[in-house]
Amino acid sequence: MWRLNGQKSRSVGRVITHPSKTKTDVPMSQPRPLPLVDTHAHVNLEDFSFDLEAFLDRSQRGIFPEIKGRQTTDPVFRPFISGLIVPGVDLASSLRAVELAHKYDFVFAAVGFHPNHVSQATQDDWEECVRLAFDDPKSNKIVALGETGLDCYWDYTPIERQRDFLLQTLDLGLRAQLPVVIHSRETNEEIMATLRDFYATAPRYSSEPNCGVVHSFSGTPEQAEELIDLGFYLGFGGFVTYTSKKFSDLWEVAKRVPVDRILLETDCPFLTPHPLRGKLERNEPLTTIFVAKRLAELRDASIPEIVNQTTQNAIRLFKLPPLRETPID
Ligand SMILES: [Zn+2]
Repeated sequence: MWRLNGQKSRSVGRVITHPSKTKTDVPMSQPRPLPLVDTHAHVNLEDFSFDLEAFLDRSQRGIFPEIKGRQTTDPVFRPFISGLIVPGVDLASSLRAVELAHKYDFVFAAVGFHPNHVSQATQDDWEECVRLAFDDPKSNKIVALGETGLDCYWDYTPIERQRDFLLQTLDLGLRAQLPVVIHSRETNEEIMATLRDFYATAPRYSSEPNCGVVHSFSGTPEQAEELIDLGFYLGFGGFVTYTSKKFSDLWEVAKRVPVDRILLETDCPFLTPHPLRGKLERNEPLTTIFVAKRLAELRDASIPEIVNQTTQNAIRLFKLPPLRETPID
């Protein structure tokens, strides 16, 4: 049984909107803007290069992409992107993430090697990653390591080499005091065994639950509970919005996981959430509002509660500086 069951009704804590802006200050026709943090956005990939500047500007204004000539505006809420965490998958994309993070104040980078890319990673690549992890924190723009993990869906790299990189990255996370972004595809049991063994003996640098996040979580309620106990957050994205019964375990996790360990993400340009699946050319950060909407349904909470709480969670885990509370004009 989920030890922390019943927490869904607890207070979601202080929202990050300005304390003087009470509900009565906001006219009914002007819903309060909701500041989203997409904690897993591959905007450093080619898919975003041709319109990056305009796209990031539009995201901060809360302007959705067009679908068949119509705006995908949410009729009730005005979400906008107040923070983006951009993971690396290899050295080049990690450096690109860092470059974007230094250029845009609402963008933050994770550096690391995706399990499907580690066969090409050299020792020099790894050492550059280590250097970034230690050198950059003064700028507060490299906020995590990753993504790292295990992937048995694609057959690009022997699992032993994937595991070596995962263990090196976990160790670096402790040494550099950075959370780790974990990818797991068809490897949930192997990931659990690896993390369990690693943290059984690893010295922690604080008592905070700050190991990192298992992004696009797809495991069982039992695995979720163990990850929470180890000190991880769970990233929810497109999967939890899908209506197929094969995701019912995940709906159960989303109902029961402690509210202060949930992060929102897109994994864009992949995993477009329902009901936009198949309708967008690429997924993008603003669609996290549909993930928030689904979590709100499952947890019997309001969308603003979910957005404000998950944004606070991202700020806490990644030690982000204060983020915009309103869209840019
Ligand atoms: Zn990813």
